[in-house]
Amino acid sequence: MPKKKKTTRKKGRRTRIKSRKSVSRKPTRKRVKRALRRTSASFPLKKPKGTFDILPEEEKYWQLIRENSEEIAKLYGFKRIDVPIFEQRELFERGVGPDTDIVEKELYTFKDKSGREYALRPEFTASIVRAYIENGMHKWPQPIKLFAIGPLFRYDRPQKGRYRQFYQFNLEVIGSIDPLIDAELIKVVLRIYETFGLEALNLEINSIGCAKCRPEYIKILKDYYKIHTRSLCRDCKRRLKTNPLRLLDCKEDKCSQLANRAPSMVDNLCDDCHIHFKKVLEYLDELGIGYNLNTRLVRGLDYYTKTVFEIWPKGVMGFSSQNSLGGGGRYDLLVKELGGKEMPAVGFAGGIERTIEEMKRQEVMIKEEKPDVFLAQIGDGGKKRALRFYDELIEAGFNVSANFSKDSIKSQLRLADKEGVKWSLIIGQKEAIDKTVIFRNMESGMQEIIDQGKAIKELKKRIKKESI
Ligand code: AMP
Repeated sequence: MPKKKKTTRKKGRRTRIKSRKSVSRKPTRKRVKRALRRTSASFPLKKPKGTFDILPEEEKYWQLIRENSEEIAKLYGFKRIDVPIFEQRELFERGVGPDTDIVEKELYTFKDKSGREYALRPEFTASIVRAYIENGMHKWPQPIKLFAIGPLFRYDRPQKGRYRQFYQFNLEVIGSIDPLIDAELIKVVLRIYETFGLEALNLEINSIGCAKCRPEYIKILKDYYKIHTRSLCRDCKRRLKTNPLRLLDCKEDKCSQLANRAPSMVDNLCDDCHIHFKKVLEYLDELGIGYNLNTRLVRGLDYYTKTVFEIWPKGVMGFSSQNSLGGGGRYDLLVKELGGKEMPAVGFAGGIERTIEEMKRQEVMIKEEKPDVFLAQIGDGGKKRALRFYDELIEAGFNVSANFSKDSIKSQLRLADKEGVKWSLIIGQKEAIDKTVIFRNMESGMQEIIDQGKAIKELKKRIKKESI
């Protein structure tokens, strides 16, 4: 009978006591390999929780968002910037704010081999501002308009529209205090969403004041909540001490009701912030952009000042930051906070996953690129000639589809049909010897024999005629 392993009960769980022998055993390469073999058989490898694969059939959405956002941004004078995926941990602590959820709970941090502390970027703005300062961009003509796109990382609770690795397109305008810049950025953002085929979206807007007027408002807000502390959720009780503004966007029922009746920042703005916000709204009116003044909109990052805004899907009721497609605002103090000269700025970040979900919900049709031609082959001679002809077609600029692993002409033509190709070119044994190629019109089924030397010219002529 095999010997029973010694176990003990600790807090209701069975814990195995390591034998002295197993403690002293070193993980030699052989042992590690054996253990890996054992675990790989019983536990197939999986993607990390909160991450996802972008499969080929989804790529059309990603490609459209990547291309259109960058193209529109460029039209409005934004230049592309790429920043590291990881940065000094301190950058986000100082930039995003130590009392924000992002820094408090969601940073992916690690030490490298030299013991330096780093964090995977949870957002773009802090990194871009760091790059602005480090590369002396304040000496360039201001304002600087920058566009970035890529993955970000937050140790969030994964759920629909909330991932641990997610993607954003991002726009920043650094170096201008003019309220026109806020309105212009909003215009560019809405123009970008329009090119994704999304119906008119809702723009929610608010002002959260500046270092001069916000402290006074926070006092008023705290006084209001102090009477209701017992009704607050656990998170809000804590936030009341660390980050009272965040009480306004809590989604818990009771907190939400209290927030609806809370004093608003817009009623407590200093003259400077009041004028700024009024001008932003005037410019939006001038541009014909509708908005909803949402006094509960505060955003989850500490660096915001004055204007804050979010883009929401049409028809989404209630207040749930989970539904916002993107958000942004002014951050006039961040450049100085991170060691640069005082430099006002405004930015926006759009979440790509939620945008794709919304595109699917609104059933946005994306025109997919179809191959121009399918190249089929029969027999060994046909296959050899087709292999070379394949490259010739590609060099001539055609988008060619083929499947050389299939020998049956029937299954090859079925594939061509499935891909919606108008023309199939077929090279069999006979055509290989005669130096010809069969042109098959997939719609009518009519076939013609053409000289291989004239095939490319002929195909170009036919495709061009059809596209007119
Ligand atoms: P934020 O950087 O928090 O201002 O968020 C801007 C946008 O990024 C949001 O409106 C979402 O579309 C998207 N976003 C933020 N966090 C996540 C996440 N964990 N998963 C997916 N999208 C996210």
